[in-house]
Amino acid sequence: MYNPASPQAEEFIEHEEILAALQYAEENKANAALIDAILRRAGEGKGLSHREASVLLACGLPDRNEEILRLAKKLKEAFYGRRIVLFAPLYLSNYCVNGCVYCPYHFQNTHIPRKKLTQAEIAREVIALQDMGHKRLAIECGEDPLHNPIEYILESIDTIYNIHHKNGAIRRVNVNIAATTEENYRKLKQAGIGTYILFQETYHKESYELLHPTGPKHGYARQTEAMDRAMRGGVDDVGLGVLFGLEGHKYEFAGLLMHAEHLEAAFGVGPHTISVPRIKPADGIDPGAFSNGVPDGVFAKLIACIRLAVPCTGMIISTRENQQVRARALELGVSQISGASRTGVGGYTSNQHDTDQFDISDNRTLDEVVRWLMALGYIPSFCTACYRQGRTGDRFMELLKAGQIQNCCQPNALMTLQEFLMDYASPATRLVGEGLIAREMIEIPNQKIREATLGHLEAIRQGERDFIV
Ligand code: SF4
Ligand code: SF4
Repeated sequence: MYNPASPQAEEFIEHEEILAALQYAEENKANAALIDAILRRAGEGKGLSHREASVLLACGLPDRNEEILRLAKKLKEAFYGRRIVLFAPLYLSNYCVNGCVYCPYHFQNTHIPRKKLTQAEIAREVIALQDMGHKRLAIECGEDPLHNPIEYILESIDTIYNIHHKNGAIRRVNVNIAATTEENYRKLKQAGIGTYILFQETYHKESYELLHPTGPKHGYARQTEAMDRAMRGGVDDVGLGVLFGLEGHKYEFAGLLMHAEHLEAAFGVGPHTISVPRIKPADGIDPGAFSNGVPDGVFAKLIACIRLAVPCTGMIISTRENQQVRARALELGVSQISGASRTGVGGYTSNQHDTDQFDISDNRTLDEVVRWLMALGYIPSFCTACYRQGRTGDRFMELLKAGQIQNCCQPNALMTLQEFLMDYASPATRLVGEGLIAREMIEIPNQKIREATLGHLEAIRQGERDFIV
Protein backbone atom coordinates (compact mmCIF):
# COMPACT_ATOMS: atom_id res chain seq x y z
CA MET A 1 0.00 0.00 0.00
CA TYR A 2 1.25 3.47 -0.88
CA ASN A 3 2.47 5.27 2.21
CA PRO A 4 4.75 8.29 1.76
CA ALA A 5 5.96 8.14 5.37
CA SER A 6 6.78 4.42 5.34
CA PRO A 7 10.42 3.44 5.86
CA GLN A 8 10.04 0.74 3.20
CA ALA A 9 11.07 1.50 -0.36
CA GLU A 10 8.23 -0.35 -2.01
CA GLU A 11 5.67 1.52 0.07
CA PHE A 12 6.92 5.07 -0.50
CA ILE A 13 7.85 4.41 -4.14
CA GLU A 14 4.85 2.23 -4.80
CA HIS A 15 4.68 0.88 -8.32
CA GLU A 16 0.87 0.86 -8.45
CA GLU A 17 0.69 4.48 -7.29
CA ILE A 18 3.10 5.51 -10.04
CA LEU A 19 1.02 3.69 -12.63
CA ALA A 20 -2.15 5.30 -11.26
CA ALA A 21 -0.52 8.76 -11.37
CA LEU A 22 0.58 8.20 -14.97
CA GLN A 23 -2.89 7.05 -15.95
CA TYR A 24 -4.47 10.06 -14.23
CA ALA A 25 -2.01 12.29 -16.10
CA GLU A 26 -2.76 10.64 -19.42
CA GLU A 27 -6.52 10.97 -18.89
CA ASN A 28 -6.17 14.66 -18.07
CA LYS A 29 -3.49 15.74 -20.49
CA ALA A 30 -6.01 17.85 -22.42
CA ASN A 31 -8.15 18.85 -19.42
CA ALA A 32 -7.64 22.61 -19.63
CA ALA A 33 -9.60 23.40 -16.46
CA LEU A 34 -7.59 20.98 -14.34
CA ILE A 35 -4.29 22.06 -15.89
CA ASP A 36 -5.11 25.70 -15.21
CA ALA A 37 -5.96 24.90 -11.60
CA ILE A 38 -2.64 23.06 -11.19
CA LEU A 39 -0.78 25.95 -12.80
CA ARG A 40 -2.42 28.37 -10.37
CA ARG A 41 -1.30 26.22 -7.47
CA ALA A 42 2.20 25.98 -8.92
CA GLY A 43 2.28 29.76 -9.22
CA GLU A 44 1.90 30.06 -5.43
CA GLY A 45 5.37 28.53 -5.16
CA LYS A 46 4.40 25.91 -2.63
CA GLY A 47 5.06 22.93 -4.85
CA LEU A 48 2.91 20.24 -6.43
CA SER A 49 2.15 16.61 -5.69
CA HIS A 50 3.56 13.94 -7.99
CA ARG A 51 0.06 13.47 -9.47
CA GLU A 52 -0.41 17.15 -10.22
CA ALA A 53 3.07 17.52 -11.64
CA SER A 54 2.59 14.40 -13.76
CA VAL A 55 -0.47 16.02 -15.37
CA LEU A 56 1.67 19.01 -16.33
CA LEU A 57 4.37 16.76 -17.73
CA ALA A 58 1.80 14.90 -19.82
CA CYS A 59 -0.01 18.09 -20.89
CA GLY A 60 -0.55 18.15 -24.65
CA LEU A 61 -2.02 21.67 -24.96
CA PRO A 62 0.55 23.93 -26.68
CA ASP A 63 -0.52 27.16 -24.93
CA ARG A 64 -0.49 25.48 -21.50
CA ASN A 65 2.93 24.01 -22.27
CA GLU A 66 4.14 27.53 -22.97
CA GLU A 67 2.68 28.58 -19.65
CA ILE A 68 4.51 25.74 -17.85
CA LEU A 69 7.84 27.01 -19.19
CA ARG A 70 6.99 30.63 -18.42
CA LEU A 71 6.00 29.81 -14.85
CA ALA A 72 9.11 27.68 -14.30
CA LYS A 73 11.28 30.64 -15.32
CA LYS A 74 9.33 32.90 -12.97
CA LEU A 75 9.68 30.56 -9.99
CA LYS A 76 13.33 29.96 -10.72
CA GLU A 77 13.95 33.69 -10.60
CA ALA A 78 11.77 34.17 -7.50
CA PHE A 79 13.58 31.49 -5.47
CA TYR A 80 17.11 31.66 -6.85
CA GLY A 81 17.40 35.05 -8.48
CA ARG A 82 20.01 34.91 -11.24
CA ARG A 83 22.68 33.22 -9.16
CA ILE A 84 24.23 30.01 -10.39
CA VAL A 85 26.42 27.98 -8.07
CA LEU A 86 29.49 26.34 -9.60
CA PHE A 87 31.20 23.11 -8.60
CA ALA A 88 33.40 20.35 -9.99
CA PRO A 89 33.43 16.58 -9.58
CA LEU A 90 36.56 14.88 -8.26
CA TYR A 91 36.95 11.19 -9.08
CA LEU A 92 38.86 9.32 -6.38
CA SER A 93 38.75 5.73 -7.59
CA ASN A 94 37.09 3.70 -10.32
CA TYR A 95 37.42 0.36 -8.60
CA CYS A 96 33.91 -1.01 -8.38
CA VAL A 97 32.35 -4.35 -7.50
CA ASN A 98 28.97 -3.55 -9.05
CA GLY A 99 27.68 -4.57 -12.44
CA CYS A 100 25.71 -1.46 -13.53
CA VAL A 101 25.21 -2.06 -17.25
CA TYR A 102 25.27 1.65 -18.19
CA CYS A 103 28.57 2.50 -16.46
CA PRO A 104 32.08 1.75 -17.75
CA TYR A 105 33.32 1.19 -14.19
CA HIS A 106 31.29 -2.03 -13.82
CA PHE A 107 33.52 -4.81 -12.55
CA GLN A 108 33.37 -6.89 -15.74
CA ASN A 109 34.97 -4.13 -17.81
CA THR A 110 38.48 -5.54 -18.02
CA HIS A 111 39.95 -3.09 -20.52
CA ILE A 112 39.43 0.08 -18.51
CA PRO A 113 42.47 0.83 -16.31
CA ARG A 114 41.66 0.81 -12.60
CA LYS A 115 43.00 3.73 -10.63
CA LYS A 116 42.73 4.92 -7.08
CA LEU A 117 44.26 8.21 -6.06
CA THR A 118 46.74 8.31 -3.20
CA GLN A 119 46.41 11.17 -0.72
CA ALA A 120 49.34 12.90 -2.44
CA GLU A 121 47.59 12.55 -5.80
CA ILE A 122 44.37 13.91 -4.31
CA ALA A 123 46.32 16.90 -3.05
CA ARG A 124 47.64 17.56 -6.57
CA GLU A 125 44.15 17.28 -8.06
CA VAL A 126 42.74 19.65 -5.44
CA ILE A 127 45.49 22.19 -6.08
CA ALA A 128 44.64 22.03 -9.79
CA LEU A 129 40.97 22.62 -8.95
CA GLN A 130 41.79 25.44 -6.56
CA ASP A 131 43.95 27.03 -9.23
CA MET A 132 40.90 27.21 -11.50
CA GLY A 133 38.91 28.87 -8.72
CA HIS A 134 36.71 26.05 -7.49
CA LYS A 135 35.46 26.11 -3.90
CA ARG A 136 32.94 23.25 -4.03
CA LEU A 137 33.65 19.68 -5.01
CA ALA A 138 31.57 16.57 -5.39
CA ILE A 139 33.70 13.51 -4.77
CA GLU A 140 32.90 10.44 -6.84
CA CYS A 141 34.01 6.91 -6.14
CA GLY A 142 33.12 3.38 -7.22
CA GLU A 143 31.88 0.90 -4.62
CA ASP A 144 34.59 -1.45 -3.48
CA PRO A 145 34.94 -2.29 0.20
CA LEU A 146 38.50 -3.48 -0.34
CA HIS A 147 39.89 -0.59 -2.38
CA ASN A 148 37.56 2.22 -1.35
CA PRO A 149 36.52 1.59 2.27
CA ILE A 150 34.85 4.38 4.22
CA GLU A 151 38.18 5.12 5.93
CA TYR A 152 39.65 6.00 2.53
CA ILE A 153 36.77 8.36 1.80
CA LEU A 154 37.09 10.03 5.22
CA GLU A 155 40.84 10.42 4.86
CA SER A 156 40.35 11.91 1.40
CA ILE A 157 37.81 14.44 2.69
CA ASP A 158 40.25 15.45 5.38
CA THR A 159 43.01 15.86 2.81
CA ILE A 160 40.77 17.98 0.58
CA TYR A 161 39.70 20.34 3.36
CA ASN A 162 43.29 20.82 4.53
CA ILE A 163 44.81 21.99 1.28
CA HIS A 164 45.21 25.73 1.05
CA HIS A 165 47.18 26.65 -2.00
CA LYS A 166 47.71 30.39 -2.51
CA ASN A 167 44.26 31.87 -1.80
CA GLY A 168 42.54 28.60 -2.66
CA ALA A 169 40.38 26.46 -0.42
CA ILE A 170 37.72 23.83 -0.92
CA ARG A 171 34.99 24.96 1.42
CA ARG A 172 32.37 22.34 0.72
CA VAL A 173 32.87 18.69 -0.15
CA ASN A 174 29.71 17.02 -1.39
CA VAL A 175 29.88 13.27 -1.54
CA ASN A 176 28.56 10.99 -4.25
CA ILE A 177 29.43 7.49 -3.10
CA ALA A 178 27.50 4.23 -3.02
CA ALA A 179 24.67 3.61 -0.61
CA THR A 180 26.08 2.73 2.78
CA THR A 181 25.18 2.20 6.44
CA GLU A 182 23.72 4.66 8.92
CA GLU A 183 26.96 4.43 10.88
CA ASN A 184 29.02 5.39 7.82
CA TYR A 185 26.69 8.29 7.06
CA ARG A 186 27.27 9.50 10.61
CA LYS A 187 31.02 9.35 9.98
CA LEU A 188 30.60 11.34 6.77
CA LYS A 189 28.59 13.97 8.61
CA GLN A 190 31.30 14.21 11.26
CA ALA A 191 33.88 14.63 8.50
CA GLY A 192 32.03 17.80 7.48
CA ILE A 193 30.45 16.83 4.19
CA GLY A 194 27.98 19.11 2.48
CA THR A 195 25.34 17.25 0.52
CA TYR A 196 25.23 13.48 0.23
CA ILE A 197 24.28 12.71 -3.36
CA LEU A 198 23.05 9.35 -4.54
CA PHE A 199 21.33 8.75 -7.84
CA GLN A 200 18.57 6.23 -7.76
CA GLU A 201 19.34 5.54 -11.44
CA THR A 202 15.79 4.23 -11.93
CA TYR A 203 12.80 3.98 -9.63
CA HIS A 204 11.35 1.10 -11.63
CA LYS A 205 12.20 -1.89 -9.45
CA GLU A 206 12.14 -4.54 -12.16
CA SER A 207 14.31 -2.46 -14.48
CA TYR A 208 16.54 -1.53 -11.57
CA GLU A 209 17.28 -5.17 -10.86
CA LEU A 210 18.00 -5.90 -14.53
CA LEU A 211 20.28 -2.88 -14.88
CA HIS A 212 22.15 -3.82 -11.69
CA PRO A 213 22.47 -7.56 -12.12
CA THR A 214 25.30 -8.12 -9.65
CA GLY A 215 26.96 -6.60 -6.63
CA PRO A 216 25.54 -4.92 -3.52
CA LYS A 217 23.86 -2.27 -5.65
CA HIS A 218 21.52 -4.97 -6.97
CA GLY A 219 19.36 -4.49 -3.86
CA TYR A 220 16.57 -2.04 -4.76
CA ALA A 221 15.59 -1.41 -1.13
CA ARG A 222 19.20 -0.80 -0.08
CA GLN A 223 19.51 1.89 -2.75
CA THR A 224 16.08 3.46 -2.35
CA GLU A 225 16.21 3.61 1.46
CA ALA A 226 19.76 5.01 1.54
CA MET A 227 18.61 8.59 2.06
CA ASP A 228 16.62 7.50 5.10
CA ARG A 229 19.77 6.01 6.59
CA ALA A 230 21.68 9.18 5.68
CA MET A 231 19.05 11.32 7.41
CA ARG A 232 19.09 9.11 10.49
CA GLY A 233 22.90 9.39 10.45
CA GLY A 234 22.56 13.17 10.65
CA VAL A 235 23.14 14.08 7.00
CA ASP A 236 20.24 16.42 6.44
CA ASP A 237 21.22 17.71 2.98
CA VAL A 238 20.67 14.93 0.49
CA GLY A 239 20.67 15.04 -3.30
CA LEU A 240 18.41 12.85 -5.43
CA GLY A 241 18.68 12.03 -9.12
CA VAL A 242 17.82 9.49 -11.77
CA LEU A 243 19.72 8.61 -14.90
CA PHE A 244 17.26 9.65 -17.57
CA GLY A 245 17.20 7.23 -20.46
CA LEU A 246 17.15 4.00 -18.47
CA GLU A 247 13.36 3.90 -17.99
CA GLY A 248 10.38 5.90 -19.21
CA HIS A 249 10.90 9.50 -18.14
CA LYS A 250 7.32 9.92 -16.87
CA TYR A 251 7.74 6.97 -14.54
CA GLU A 252 11.06 8.34 -13.25
CA PHE A 253 9.59 11.80 -12.80
CA ALA A 254 6.74 10.51 -10.63
CA GLY A 255 9.16 8.30 -8.66
CA LEU A 256 11.56 11.18 -8.08
CA LEU A 257 8.81 13.41 -6.72
CA MET A 258 7.45 10.59 -4.56
CA HIS A 259 10.92 10.20 -3.10
CA ALA A 260 10.98 13.92 -2.31
CA GLU A 261 7.51 13.64 -0.74
CA HIS A 262 8.71 10.70 1.31
CA LEU A 263 11.66 12.62 2.76
CA GLU A 264 9.35 15.49 3.64
CA ALA A 265 6.80 13.13 5.23
CA ALA A 266 9.33 11.03 7.13
CA PHE A 267 11.93 13.64 8.11
CA GLY A 268 10.23 17.01 7.63
CA VAL A 269 12.73 18.14 5.00
CA GLY A 270 12.82 17.45 1.30
CA PRO A 271 15.91 16.88 -0.83
CA HIS A 272 18.48 19.67 -0.99
CA THR A 273 19.11 19.04 -4.67
CA ILE A 274 17.87 17.04 -7.62
CA SER A 275 20.26 16.14 -10.45
CA VAL A 276 19.08 15.47 -13.96
CA PRO A 277 21.74 13.43 -15.78
CA ARG A 278 20.95 11.81 -19.11
CA ILE A 279 22.75 8.71 -20.25
CA LYS A 280 25.83 9.50 -22.38
CA PRO A 281 28.42 7.57 -24.40
CA ALA A 282 31.37 6.09 -22.50
CA ASP A 283 33.86 3.26 -22.84
CA GLY A 284 31.80 0.29 -24.03
CA ILE A 285 28.50 2.12 -23.39
CA ASP A 286 26.22 3.05 -26.28
CA PRO A 287 23.28 5.22 -25.19
CA GLY A 288 21.43 3.96 -28.29
CA ALA A 289 21.23 0.57 -26.59
CA PHE A 290 18.78 2.11 -24.12
CA SER A 291 15.40 2.72 -25.65
CA ASN A 292 14.16 5.45 -23.30
CA GLY A 293 16.34 8.34 -24.44
CA VAL A 294 14.90 11.76 -23.59
CA PRO A 295 14.98 14.29 -26.47
CA ASP A 296 16.07 17.86 -25.71
CA GLY A 297 12.56 19.35 -25.85
CA VAL A 298 11.16 16.79 -23.42
CA PHE A 299 14.21 17.23 -21.21
CA ALA A 300 13.54 20.97 -20.99
CA LYS A 301 9.93 20.33 -20.01
CA LEU A 302 11.02 17.80 -17.41
CA ILE A 303 13.26 20.39 -15.81
CA ALA A 304 10.48 22.97 -15.85
CA CYS A 305 8.02 20.55 -14.23
CA ILE A 306 10.52 19.61 -11.50
CA ARG A 307 11.00 23.34 -10.85
CA LEU A 308 7.24 23.79 -10.39
CA ALA A 309 6.87 20.68 -8.23
CA VAL A 310 9.73 21.40 -5.80
CA PRO A 311 10.54 25.13 -6.05
CA CYS A 312 12.82 25.10 -2.99
CA THR A 313 15.01 22.27 -4.20
CA GLY A 314 18.25 23.12 -5.99
CA MET A 315 18.70 21.53 -9.41
CA ILE A 316 21.99 20.38 -10.85
CA ILE A 317 23.14 19.81 -14.40
CA SER A 318 26.58 18.54 -15.32
CA THR A 319 28.94 18.78 -18.30
CA ARG A 320 27.23 15.69 -19.69
CA GLU A 321 25.14 18.32 -21.45
CA ASN A 322 26.35 20.78 -24.05
CA GLN A 323 26.34 24.55 -23.80
CA GLN A 324 22.94 25.02 -25.51
CA VAL A 325 21.15 22.46 -23.36
CA ARG A 326 22.72 23.91 -20.24
CA ALA A 327 21.64 27.42 -21.16
CA ARG A 328 18.03 26.26 -21.56
CA ALA A 329 18.17 24.28 -18.33
CA LEU A 330 19.44 27.33 -16.41
CA GLU A 331 16.49 29.37 -17.62
CA LEU A 332 13.93 26.76 -16.62
CA GLY A 333 15.12 25.72 -13.21
CA VAL A 334 18.71 24.58 -12.81
CA SER A 335 20.57 26.40 -10.02
CA GLN A 336 23.94 24.62 -9.95
CA ILE A 337 26.27 23.56 -12.73
CA SER A 338 29.64 21.91 -12.90
CA GLY A 339 32.39 23.65 -14.82
CA ALA A 340 35.65 22.52 -16.42
CA SER A 341 34.95 18.99 -15.21
CA ARG A 342 37.06 15.92 -15.72
CA THR A 343 35.23 12.64 -15.30
CA GLY A 344 38.20 10.30 -14.93
CA VAL A 345 40.43 9.43 -12.00
CA GLY A 346 43.31 11.92 -11.87
CA GLY A 347 41.78 13.90 -14.74
CA TYR A 348 42.79 17.35 -13.50
CA THR A 349 46.50 16.57 -13.47
CA SER A 350 46.82 14.41 -16.58
CA ASN A 351 45.57 14.56 -20.11
CA GLN A 352 44.58 10.92 -20.17
CA HIS A 353 40.94 10.06 -20.66
CA ASP A 354 41.20 6.30 -20.31
CA THR A 355 39.20 6.24 -17.07
CA ASP A 356 36.46 8.70 -17.99
CA GLN A 357 33.07 7.67 -16.63
CA PHE A 358 31.27 9.44 -19.47
CA ASP A 359 32.02 11.76 -22.36
CA ILE A 360 31.86 15.47 -21.63
CA SER A 361 29.80 17.71 -23.90
CA ASP A 362 30.96 21.03 -22.46
CA ASN A 363 34.75 21.35 -22.52
CA ARG A 364 35.15 25.02 -21.65
CA THR A 365 37.44 26.31 -18.92
CA LEU A 366 35.96 27.61 -15.68
CA ASP A 367 36.90 31.15 -16.69
CA GLU A 368 34.97 30.71 -19.94
CA VAL A 369 31.96 29.26 -18.14
CA VAL A 370 31.95 32.15 -15.65
CA ARG A 371 32.14 34.73 -18.46
CA TRP A 372 29.42 32.92 -20.41
CA LEU A 373 27.12 32.89 -17.37
CA MET A 374 27.58 36.61 -16.90
CA ALA A 375 26.91 37.23 -20.60
CA LEU A 376 23.62 35.37 -20.17
CA GLY A 377 22.74 37.66 -17.27
CA TYR A 378 23.56 35.25 -14.41
CA ILE A 379 25.70 35.76 -11.33
CA PRO A 380 28.26 32.97 -11.02
CA SER A 381 28.58 32.00 -7.36
CA PHE A 382 31.15 29.97 -5.44
CA CYS A 383 29.18 30.36 -2.26
CA THR A 384 29.30 27.74 0.48
CA ALA A 385 27.99 29.94 3.28
CA CYS A 386 24.94 28.01 4.46
CA TYR A 387 26.71 24.78 5.08
CA ARG A 388 29.54 26.54 6.89
CA GLN A 389 27.12 28.43 9.12
CA GLY A 390 25.19 25.28 9.95
CA ARG A 391 22.21 26.25 7.81
CA THR A 392 21.48 22.77 6.53
CA GLY A 393 18.37 20.65 6.25
CA ASP A 394 15.24 22.28 7.67
CA ARG A 395 17.14 25.43 8.79
CA PHE A 396 18.14 26.03 5.19
CA MET A 397 14.60 25.41 3.98
CA GLU A 398 13.17 27.85 6.55
CA LEU A 399 15.47 30.55 5.22
CA LEU A 400 14.44 29.82 1.66
CA LYS A 401 10.73 29.68 2.45
CA ALA A 402 10.95 32.92 4.47
CA GLY A 403 12.21 34.69 1.34
CA GLN A 404 15.43 35.70 3.11
CA ILE A 405 17.66 34.10 0.56
CA GLN A 406 18.12 37.37 -1.34
CA ASN A 407 19.78 38.88 1.74
CA CYS A 408 21.96 35.86 2.04
CA CYS A 409 22.77 34.36 -1.36
CA GLN A 410 23.16 37.65 -3.19
CA PRO A 411 25.94 39.13 -1.00
CA ASN A 412 27.70 35.80 -0.64
CA ALA A 413 27.53 35.20 -4.38
CA LEU A 414 28.97 38.64 -5.12
CA MET A 415 31.77 38.27 -2.58
CA THR A 416 32.80 34.84 -3.87
CA LEU A 417 32.65 36.13 -7.42
CA GLN A 418 34.89 39.01 -6.37
CA GLU A 419 37.38 36.50 -4.96
CA PHE A 420 37.29 34.60 -8.25
CA LEU A 421 37.88 37.77 -10.23
CA MET A 422 40.85 38.74 -8.08
CA ASP A 423 42.53 35.35 -7.95
CA TYR A 424 41.68 33.37 -11.08
CA ALA A 425 39.86 35.34 -13.77
CA SER A 426 41.26 36.45 -17.10
CA PRO A 427 41.32 40.26 -17.65
CA ALA A 428 38.25 40.00 -19.92
CA THR A 429 36.26 38.08 -17.31
CA ARG A 430 37.37 40.44 -14.55
CA LEU A 431 36.19 43.45 -16.50
CA VAL A 432 32.73 41.98 -17.04
CA GLY A 433 32.56 40.75 -13.45
CA GLU A 434 33.46 44.08 -11.83
CA GLY A 435 30.65 45.76 -13.73
CA LEU A 436 28.21 43.06 -12.77
CA ILE A 437 29.08 43.28 -9.07
CA ALA A 438 28.61 47.04 -9.09
CA ARG A 439 25.18 46.66 -10.71
CA GLU A 440 24.02 43.77 -8.54
CA MET A 441 24.83 45.34 -5.17
CA ILE A 442 21.54 47.26 -5.22
CA GLU A 443 19.64 43.96 -5.36
CA ILE A 444 20.52 43.23 -1.72
CA PRO A 445 17.32 44.37 0.02
CA ASN A 446 18.65 44.83 3.56
CA GLN A 447 20.60 48.08 3.88
CA LYS A 448 22.84 46.90 6.72
CA ILE A 449 23.81 43.76 4.83
CA ARG A 450 24.39 45.82 1.69
CA GLU A 451 26.76 48.14 3.52
CA ALA A 452 28.61 45.28 5.18
CA THR A 453 28.98 43.60 1.79
CA LEU A 454 30.44 46.78 0.30
CA GLY A 455 33.07 46.77 3.02
CA HIS A 456 33.86 43.11 2.50
CA LEU A 457 34.18 43.59 -1.26
CA GLU A 458 36.73 46.30 -0.69
CA ALA A 459 38.62 44.09 1.78
CA ILE A 460 38.68 41.30 -0.81
CA ARG A 461 40.18 43.71 -3.33
CA GLN A 462 42.83 44.49 -0.70
CA GLY A 463 43.70 40.80 -0.32
CA GLU A 464 41.45 39.49 2.47
CA ARG A 465 39.31 36.39 1.79
CA ASP A 466 36.42 34.29 2.98
CA PHE A 467 33.71 36.62 4.23
CA ILE A 468 30.26 35.28 4.97
CA VAL A 469 27.02 37.08 5.69
S1 SF4 B 1 27.45 3.52 -11.48
FE1 SF4 B 1 28.68 3.54 -9.62
S2 SF4 B 1 28.26 1.58 -8.67
FE2 SF4 B 1 27.67 1.37 -10.81
S3 SF4 B 1 29.48 0.54 -11.84
FE3 SF4 B 1 29.54 2.79 -12.00
S4 SF4 B 1 30.80 3.42 -10.28
FE4 SF4 B 1 30.13 1.33 -9.87
S1 SF4 C 1 23.89 31.58 0.90
FE1 SF4 C 1 23.36 29.41 1.23
S2 SF4 C 1 21.70 28.97 -0.21
FE2 SF4 C 1 22.68 30.85 -0.86
S3 SF4 C 1 24.19 30.15 -2.39
FE3 SF4 C 1 25.23 30.34 -0.41
S4 SF4 C 1 25.14 28.28 0.42
FE4 SF4 C 1 23.61 28.37 -1.21
